[in-house]
Amino acid sequence: MIIILEPHIQKDSDEYKAILKHLDNLPNIKHRVHEEHGQQQTLTEIYLIGETKILPKDEIEALTGVERVVRVSQEYRVLGRHADDDHRSCSFEYNGVTFDQNNLNVFAGLCAVDNPTHVEMMMQAVSEHGLQCTRMGAYKPRTNPYSFQGHGKNCLNYVFEIAGKYGIKVIAMEVTHEQHVKEIQQALEETGHPTGVMLQIGTRNTQNFELLKHVGRQKDMPVLIKRGFGITLEESLNAAEYLASEGNRKVVFGLRGMKTNLGDPHRNFVDFTHVPVVKRLTRMPVCIDPSHSVGTRQGSPDGLMDLMHATAQGVVAGANMILVDFHPVPSKALVDGPQALRLEELEWFLEDVRIAREAYEKRVALAAKQAH
Ligand code: PEP
Ligand code: MN
Repeated sequence: MIIILEPHIQKDSDEYKAILKHLDNLPNIKHRVHEEHGQQQTLTEIYLIGETKILPKDEIEALTGVERVVRVSQEYRVLGRHADDDHRSCSFEYNGVTFDQNNLNVFAGLCAVDNPTHVEMMMQAVSEHGLQCTRMGAYKPRTNPYSFQGHGKNCLNYVFEIAGKYGIKVIAMEVTHEQHVKEIQQALEETGHPTGVMLQIGTRNTQNFELLKHVGRQKDMPVLIKRGFGITLEESLNAAEYLASEGNRKVVFGLRGMKTNLGDPHRNFVDFTHVPVVKRLTRMPVCIDPSHSVGTRQGSPDGLMDLMHATAQGVVAGANMILVDFHPVPSKALVDGPQALRLEELEWFLEDVRIAREAYEKRVALAAKQAH
């Protein structure tokens, strides 16, 4: 059960104290307070855990200062959609960029940071095409221990400084250890916060619960959590809920394909038909990663790369974020060069995305007309 307080109720008010006292007296019920600080107001939600089925909703709703009470009808308490909670927000803003289930942000960038020249070429191209976001891998989880592991903290300062120079607002960056979060915070501090970071939980760490708890405990940076490549959707959505249960609900859910040879010759089996499913079950914006799903630049006789087909399929299904590998000189990329698009292809890629997005918007409008 979720109790949503009226926006003006302060923590030190008599109403707030009376509500908490009431809850403290309920047998076998624990509660957890979650505050969401928006630009205009603070939204306070109290989550009740325990035997809530027998609690009378009306009685709690009648308490002064309570706006409404939502019975949690589904899983994913914080991030899920529940019966009669349509008004609960699906969106969040970070560093001037809005993330929600109705818009689309493109994060084109380097799979792995290699050197400042390539970072600068990438960011310049991104900003010239009117984008505000990019991806920059500093900590790379690699299958082979002898493969390049990423420059780690050594590259953070120049990556953030160059981002500031080109007006990049958000960089998606994977972390595999809590120490990485500290290093990122420190580098942002040292460079004077020229940009923002969306912490990425990679598919290999989707169920690294201690990492999720740690990342969820910091509420400043949003989190992109990738679907685990060999677990069910439900398990991955529960992993996302770990982040929110610790306090950070600025969470984007990423689809990146499933590991099975049945997807051959693609690197993973593309699962973008789950975009609308995640939007139905949760309030998270949904990201697609065509690069790590398809894993190749191969194309078909129609002149389009599979990677662009997959992107369009995700966008036409309503995806809200695209994470895609580009590289100025793919042959020199230290990680995933063969699946990287070239800077000269960015304009084409974005135009293709626009076509797919327009098709999605037309489909939504048609569905709305049908509903009347
Ligand atoms: C990545 O985005 O760089 C990455 C390693 O992706 P995934 O965790 O989906 O394999
Ligand atoms: Mn990669």
